[in-house]
Amino acid sequence: MKNMRTSQYRKKQSATVTDSYKHKKDSVCSLCGSSLFAKYTFTRHLINLENKSKLSVQVRGCKNVDCTNHTARLKPVVYQNQIVPESAYGIDVYALIGHLRMSDRKTIPEIHREMLEAYPHLEFGERHVENMLNHLNLCIEQSGKNADYLSAYFSSRSQDKLLLSIDGVQPEQGHQILYIVREVQSGKILWSSYSRYSDAASLEKTILLPLQSLLEKAKLSVVGWVADKELAISKAIGSVYPNVAFQHCQTHFLAAMKAPLANDDTEIGKTLKKNLVR
Ligand SMILES: [Zn+2]
Repeated sequence: MKNMRTSQYRKKQSATVTDSYKHKKDSVCSLCGSSLFAKYTFTRHLINLENKSKLSVQVRGCKNVDCTNHTARLKPVVYQNQIVPESAYGIDVYALIGHLRMSDRKTIPEIHREMLEAYPHLEFGERHVENMLNHLNLCIEQSGKNADYLSAYFSSRSQDKLLLSIDGVQPEQGHQILYIVREVQSGKILWSSYSRYSDAASLEKTILLPLQSLLEKAKLSVVGWVADKELAISKAIGSVYPNVAFQHCQTHFLAAMKAPLANDDTEIGKTLKKNLVR
């Protein structure tokens, strides 16, 4: 039988999912509170552990011409939280590679083989895994240790007020959690570290306090925090940054808001019914 393969290179599969990321309709500038205007929408591919997707991402700017965010390209936070700048692969792919290397001490060929077995749609080569590991090492090394670098980076954007988000990624149940602190407007990762503990006291001691002293050294001030509904994170932020605005991630926040509303709704329904019967 003739060899069915026409080329030695396998054709890569195309995206299986499409998704779009938009700013909330009434979202305002985190620096000056003005409303935002739509700049443009771009499309890109993102490959994460789950699938390969084609995303459309909305970019906005601040309407206030005197604000540094006027010329900035603001992307939705939910989008920022899952990407690695200038990489086609999602942050969860990086987290898993990092975990296999740093916690499980696997070699690059082992990591490559295991990942392709578990997630065939990743379709990357061994060399790529190595590049991603180098990138990851650099991020971990750089994060939280270099005030001069951060100060130069943000002054090049003429930005001295930071809006931070914190998120915990757990590549595999029961293993260490990778915490990532990111500046929302620039997308810059300020801190990433693995932690075995997720209680408020540990988060405070291992992430928030060292980060706070770093940012003080860099003369950068924090004007807001965004986090998911995880109680330990809110508690830790509240104690280290008691006077800084704290906001739950919109998606998580709305989900949490819905629960009591649904209850009230049922109560109103009951009362109404009672009154109508009378
Ligand atoms: Zn503004």
